[in-house]
Amino acid sequence: MKINNTKNLKKIFLNISLVAVLFSTDTDYMWPTNASNTLTAFFGEMRPHRYHLGIDIRTYGKNGDPVFAITDGYIYRLKVSNTGYGNVIYIKHDDNNISLYAHLSRFNEKIQKNVEQLQFKRNSYLIDHLLEPGIIKVSKGDIIGYTGDTGGLSGPHLHFEIRDEINRPLNPLNTSLGKKFKDTLKPQPDFIAFIPLSDSSRVNGFNYIQEFEINNSSLGTNDTLSVIGDFGIAINVKDKVNSQPFNYGIYSIDLEINDEFQYGIKFDKTSFTQNNQIYLERNYELLELNQGEYYQLYKVSYQNNSFIDKKSKGSLIPKEGINNYKITIKDLNGNENYVKGTFVYDKIINPDFIVNELANGGWIINYKNIDNIDNIECKLLNSSKSINESLSCDLVNDMSIHKNNAIIINNTKSIYNTLEITLNTDKGKTVKHYALLDKKPLHIQGDLTINHNYDGIRIDYEENEFSGMKPSLFFQSDGVMKKDTLVRVSKNKLISNLFSISEFMKMSNISIRYETDTFTIIKDSELDKYLVKPGEYSEKIIINGQALFIHDKKTFYDDTIIYSHPVNIFEEQSIINPFYIGPNAIPFNKPLKLIINLFDIKNQNKMNVCYYQNNKWNPLYTIRDETKVISAEIKRGSIIGVIIDDKIPEIDNVVPRNNATYNLGDMENFEIYLKDNFSGINYDNGINLTVNEKNILTGYNIYQKKILTVRLKDYLKIGKNTYRLTVSDNSNNTKTINGNFYIKE
Ligand SMILES: [Zn+2]
Repeated sequence: MKINNTKNLKKIFLNISLVAVLFSTDTDYMWPTNASNTLTAFFGEMRPHRYHLGIDIRTYGKNGDPVFAITDGYIYRLKVSNTGYGNVIYIKHDDNNISLYAHLSRFNEKIQKNVEQLQFKRNSYLIDHLLEPGIIKVSKGDIIGYTGDTGGLSGPHLHFEIRDEINRPLNPLNTSLGKKFKDTLKPQPDFIAFIPLSDSSRVNGFNYIQEFEINNSSLGTNDTLSVIGDFGIAINVKDKVNSQPFNYGIYSIDLEINDEFQYGIKFDKTSFTQNNQIYLERNYELLELNQGEYYQLYKVSYQNNSFIDKKSKGSLIPKEGINNYKITIKDLNGNENYVKGTFVYDKIINPDFIVNELANGGWIINYKNIDNIDNIECKLLNSSKSINESLSCDLVNDMSIHKNNAIIINNTKSIYNTLEITLNTDKGKTVKHYALLDKKPLHIQGDLTINHNYDGIRIDYEENEFSGMKPSLFFQSDGVMKKDTLVRVSKNKLISNLFSISEFMKMSNISIRYETDTFTIIKDSELDKYLVKPGEYSEKIIINGQALFIHDKKTFYDDTIIYSHPVNIFEEQSIINPFYIGPNAIPFNKPLKLIINLFDIKNQNKMNVCYYQNNKWNPLYTIRDETKVISAEIKRGSIIGVIIDDKIPEIDNVVPRNNATYNLGDMENFEIYLKDNFSGINYDNGINLTVNEKNILTGYNIYQKKILTVRLKDYLKIGKNTYRLTVSDNSNNTKTINGNFYIKE
């Protein structure tokens, strides 16, 4: 098929498809393998930077079960690769849908011959070939290949997809295949998050995301929540299927507020061009904070996702006062579940109060903009221990409420070090925390980090040890020193208010100070920061000339600050000082290119740009040229370093052993395993095998770490044979082995 014809073909297909839809009946598909009808992954599940757009059928750890054509059609695409789908077959069916069967161990005999011919013709193990209709016809139930583990690290399984006539992935279980599957269990919602979407928004008094466990008996949140300003809701939910140990994605979620539709998502059909939209749909900030996978129930800007109902709204705008929300979650077998709750909504920030210490150790509270106080609750907490260890005010003898506007605490020498005050008003609830100063720590240290999400930037400060004090954020802006409050959100962690991008760009000399006798500057700014705009190319030198970033026109969806600062890692391997480059909580639309300056460091061709995660350095695909720089691309905020890899790959040669004799009939493939601990085997170009001085086409099974060969037998002769194998890793380290073996008939 010629590529320049595809546009016309698409048009024709579009016209046909309109007719096809009118006459289509739901074809009765056959389940594609007898390996099992158990699934290990569903359609619409999250994968790094993409959706999983098929189903994974379990093969119980083994390869070689037959794979069947689900209905009549012809094979229209065959692909062999070391990564991705591995060995994969695409069938075009009479109902115009396409089915796809991936990670196969091998094809049926006829297809295998076809594939080998193509491999020899192109002198390449890797092929991707489109076939004209009629070359290989298949009928429903024909064995087209065998299950396997090629192309990935996930082990044996059958990845199966159904697409429509123009290659848009469909949910395979939304066809007749879904009926071959028993499931009577409801989706199980675990957590709900309320997300402030502006710097003046508050959820229960706080300007940051609040997560609540869903009470299983009433399927809602226990208390009425207080919400002020723009906000959104997100839900953490899993689906279970009868007698299967896996957690699944769900089919649809709908949000209603006061019985009115707000947002809907249905995992039925999408297109590959929308694959990178996943982090605009699952909440990226909660994901980066390791809080799990939350489905956002509001539409963010730049969202163009066909899973999402077009009538869905952005930030939720309910009525003032009491509102009811209802979230309906369904799986594909008609099992549904609900989450219900109430919240009090206010458009502007009204309730607020200030607490001041009295000379005798008591506290006085001044109210702002509050007409009616229902009641005041207070609690003593020990924030260095579990938050559950708390004591209500009415249980504390030494604490009393005076004239509705002052709380006196006489005894703070107990295990408690934090006072939590909750003000319930007709406008909702406001909560504040105060540290009860006991003794002044002498050497407090901590780390400043930047948290840049869609709605702005805040400064996070983490104390190395709990101080029990109230440090403040100081910074210079427009030549003036400014002070801002920090809120303690957990034992050692404090966060600032949210700043806008323009406010943050003006800030310099950011520091943390404790208001003890003398001010202590914890950390001065070592921060590089640049505003980048979509549609504008820019490159900036960061980290004192050590690195350069290149912002492509499409790296981010919206105005974004790229920032970097040095990081201390107790790991001496990196040959440059490690640095963090962010944003941390904004999804990248396209990768960001980093160029690292190596100055006069030698061994450039063995250097790897790496990111630090899970307490180790992980190599990124590194481009090296003859200059003194190396480069790589990142898709998320990361700690970056450079590591030298000078370890040669390991070759574990099982068959053929040197000087051993083998039967010709047993020699389908060599049994040679490769290992490289760091940058990995360069399997597309770095494996070179000759037998009797002739080149063998080789591939690589990443999961088994095994070399694959094409028609090896054709190169063998009776008697003495010689071979030579050269293997390179991705850091130009090479190992060669030679040997000979004997073949008898
Ligand atoms: Zn899969």
